Amino acid sequence: MSGAILYTEGLVKRFAGLTATDGVSLELRHGEIHALIGPNGAGKSTLINQLCGELMPDAGQVHLDGREITRMPPAERVRQGLCRTFQITSILGDFSVRQNMGLAVQARLGGNMRIMDSLRRRRDLWAEVDGMLAESALAARAGVLADDLSAGERKQLELLMALALRPKVLLLDEPMAGLGHAESQDMVRRLQTLRGQVSILLVEHDMEAVFALADRISVLVYGRLLMTGTAAEVMASAEVREAYLGGEDELC
Ligand code: ADP
Ligand code: MG
Repeated sequence: MSGAILYTEGLVKRFAGLTATDGVSLELRHGEIHALIGPNGAGKSTLINQLCGELMPDAGQVHLDGREITRMPPAERVRQGLCRTFQITSILGDFSVRQNMGLAVQARLGGNMRIMDSLRRRRDLWAEVDGMLAESALAARAGVLADDLSAGERKQLELLMALALRPKVLLLDEPMAGLGHAESQDMVRRLQTLRGQVSILLVEHDMEAVFALADRISVLVYGRLLMTGTAAEVMASAEVREAYLGGEDELC
C-alpha cells in the first residue's frame, strides 16, 4: 500500500437491514484523480461520509498517509489533510467571495493568538486569499456576494474554500451537479490543474467529466466494489455494463 495516500480495508456500514457499504477496500494513490461511480443508492455517499468521519463504520478500517484514522473525529481528519467540500465552512450567501475565502483560510489557521500575532496573521490571511483568488476563475468576482454567483461560480468557490484548507486528499461528492455543460467544462479544467498536487476522490454522475478526469475509476454496486481500473478497463467490463444498465451499452 506504499503508493496509497488513503485506503480502506473491508469497510462495512449497515442501516437497519441494509448493508450500504459491504466490505469495501478502496485505494487512492498519491496524486491521482480517482472517480467513484455507481448507480443511485450504491453507497457512494455513505462511503465518502465514512472517509470524512461523518459516519462511523460498523467494521473495517480507514488509513490516511500511513495512519489509521477509522475513529478519528472529522475536524481532526481535516487537520490531517483529508477534506471534503463544505466540511468545515459552508458558503455564506450574504458575504462576498473574498470574505468567504477569508473564513476558509481562518478555519485552517485556527484562533487563539496574541494581538500582534493576530494582526500579522490577519495580513497574511488576506494576502493568501487574494493570491488564491487572483489565480482562480473568480478573480474578477472577489467583491460579489456569494448569493449573486452563478451555479458554476458557486461550485468554483466551494472548491476554492476546500483548497484553502490545503488538503492532501480532497473528497468531491458530485461537483458538477446542477451545472450546465459549459460550467461543467470549466470545473473539469479546474480539476485538471490539481492533478498531481492533491489526491482526489471524485463521486460524479457526469460520465464525460469522469472519463476526462479520472486516472482510475472504481465501480460501486449495492455496496460492493465491483472493480477498479482505467476508463478503458471499466468500459470493457461486461459486469459493469450489466450492473449499470441491465446489459445495455450506454455507459458513455
Ligand atoms: P449513493 O450516494 O451511491 O446514491 P447512498 O450512500 O446515499 O448511495 O445510499 C446507499 C444506501 O443506503 C441507499 O439504499 C440509501 O437509501 C441508504 N441510506 C443512506 N443513508 C442512510 C441513512 N442515514 N439511514 C438509512 N438508510 C440510508
Ligand atoms: Mg450520493
